[in-house]
Amino acid sequence: MTNLPTDIINKGAEAWIFQQRNSIIKYRPEKEYRHPLIDSKLRKFRTNREMKIMAKLKELNIPCPNILDDNKANLFLSEKKYTHDYAITMEFIDGFQLKSIVDRANMHRFADQLGGTVAKMHANDIVHGDLTTSNMIVRNDTLHLIDFGLSNFTAKEEDKAVDLHLLKEALNSKHPLIATEFFDEVIEQYARNYPGAKDILDRLKLVEKRGRNKH
Ligand code: AMP
Repeated sequence: MTNLPTDIINKGAEAWIFQQRNSIIKYRPEKEYRHPLIDSKLRKFRTNREMKIMAKLKELNIPCPNILDDNKANLFLSEKKYTHDYAITMEFIDGFQLKSIVDRANMHRFADQLGGTVAKMHANDIVHGDLTTSNMIVRNDTLHLIDFGLSNFTAKEEDKAVDLHLLKEALNSKHPLIATEFFDEVIEQYARNYPGAKDILDRLKLVEKRGRNKH
């Protein structure tokens, strides 16, 4: 039991991702350069916030990993002295990153789903914070969002506009040939599904203008 195979699939600065069969364990490592008390507080706060966001998205029926209270993962965590204060155990979404499968032929259904999902999140005052096509996993034709490490509860128009702006930039950089069409379709669904969309889209224009003036 204690020697279950666990693969580390990503060891980033902010999070280490382990996979254990059908679960993912996302652990926030220590940062040596921070004061230990501040570090501990911050890691706990961010772990907790990420869990709260995922729980809220589940309530809203937005496809994302289920949070698991998996015994085997608990065992792994205690063995390695990774406490649950800094780790989330969640369902492994066994699919394909949108980044690797999106093309001109299939983009419409994914753009529609994404527009609907972001609309629902923003209508409920949640921003994702890192809407890239690596953080979207398609399983059975359904687009699931992952990685809520930069997500936040916020009602600010600015935060929602920046969320869209970052998506647009990510599309432009990773999928330049379909980016404009894809983003326009996302926005069409967004506007259809979020009564407050107009104000956010007006704000988005300002955010973009600001971006252009910087160069
Ligand atoms: P993150 O630090 O949360 O962005 O995770 C890094 C990478 O691990 C992601 O880009 C995914 O490829 C993978 N990953 C993280 N969580 C999951 C999950 N619940 N299901 C499937 N893959 C995941």
